[in-house]
Amino acid sequence: MLARKWLVNCCYSYAHDCRATKVIASLSSTPAPGESVKCLGIPRSVHNSPSEHTECCRTRDSNRDDKFTEKMATDNLTAVLHGIEDLRLEQRPIPEIASDEVLLAMDSVGICGSDVHYLTAGRIGDFVLTKPMIIGHEAAGVVAKVGKSVKHLAVGDRVAIEPGVPCRYCDLCKQGKYNLCADMVFCATPPYDGNLTRFYKHAADFCFKLPDHVSMEEGALLEPLSVGVHACRRAEVGLGSKVLILGAGPIGLVTLLAAQALGASEILITDLVQQRLDVAKELGATHTLLLDRNQSAEDIVKKVHCTMSGAPDKAVDCCGAESSARLAIFATRSGGVVVIVGMGAPEIKLPLINALSRVVDIRGVFRYCNDYSAALALVASGKVNVKRLVTHHFDITETAKAFETSRYGHGGAIKVMIHVQPRDANNPVKF
Ligand code: NAD
Ligand code: ZN
Repeated sequence: MLARKWLVNCCYSYAHDCRATKVIASLSSTPAPGESVKCLGIPRSVHNSPSEHTECCRTRDSNRDDKFTEKMATDNLTAVLHGIEDLRLEQRPIPEIASDEVLLAMDSVGICGSDVHYLTAGRIGDFVLTKPMIIGHEAAGVVAKVGKSVKHLAVGDRVAIEPGVPCRYCDLCKQGKYNLCADMVFCATPPYDGNLTRFYKHAADFCFKLPDHVSMEEGALLEPLSVGVHACRRAEVGLGSKVLILGAGPIGLVTLLAAQALGASEILITDLVQQRLDVAKELGATHTLLLDRNQSAEDIVKKVHCTMSGAPDKAVDCCGAESSARLAIFATRSGGVVVIVGMGAPEIKLPLINALSRVVDIRGVFRYCNDYSAALALVASGKVNVKRLVTHHFDITETAKAFETSRYGHGGAIKVMIHVQPRDANNPVKF
């Protein structure tokens, strides 16, 4: 393991020192002497001990280009949202870390519907963009520097980043419901910065080390998968559950994957778009149902019950439409559970009397809480395969195009992945 960290191709050690490893450099082979090399390596300030220069090397002794290397040593290209329809790539300082933090050389960042929403509307509910904010929160990176008190991570570790860091002191945090912490610092939720940037710092205890066979992209996908895991836990999906999922976007699809892993025997997923249902079918949904906006709730409920061998005992709304939340209640069998993940209008009309007289529990979901480890275990064990969700790949320099693809669903986009480093640079097993 140690060898993998130090005995590598990189780099301009006089400029940014040789903690750099293949995993944090853009190099895939040893360059010829004098060859110009683009390196995303670690800046001098990160360097801990000169003795760590082992096996490093190269252009240092040949034709070095001081200006170039100085530039790369401070390159922290960052995607910053300045306002509605105003997303810019610009340089930001490389952050200094506290003793309980790690500096991460970012690798993969997925685009989420909320990122697109901040771009197009500048707000989600009460979270309003009032100053420039770094975008991105579905992410994975490589540890480039560790704070003094960090014990469980080392330089070179590949990690998934749980993007919300709570206060750890309030009652809710102490009760383990940290997703409800009023002082949560959550990436790319105003006023807090996200992590679509080359170098980003994060609380070390909210970084999850990835095994070698789990790719950086899968690490980034643990974020939406954790939402699906949390939703299924809230719904108490278990062995033999019959689950109705409304909406086959990324969140509906990860909920489908989580429900399967938790032992659901029958899963029906709905959408208005056939192509999304085709993906759901590919991922193993037992039934899919294409809806059209003009159908009555009564008709759809009948269809759901016929298709599913009776009423589902769990329903998870993953689209946020009023009609969908209403349908979830009408369709769920008496004594069942409806979970609302979708966030649409702040107020909607629900058939409450129907729900209460049949004792259908209605439960909310806010992000996730203690779900990252489970999501990682599902992926690492092979029980869940999230790879199919990724339909598009872009380099960070193509951020605008990546957002456009996600926003308009070009090319059947489901999950658009932005690569801060070249694809597979940090994947022992290719994505
Ligand atoms: P998305 O927009 O990509 O997908 C929604 C899907 O629902 C689309 O495929 C759309 O065609 C479909 N749809 C729309 N209306 C429908 C209807 N009436 N019936 C069936 N399908 C319908 O969004 P996403 O990224 O998958 O996220 C889904 C929802 O979850 C969003 O509202 C998002 O804000 C919310 N969300 C909530 C949390 C949380 O913590 N509660 C976390 C993440 C996302
Ligand atoms: Zn708290």
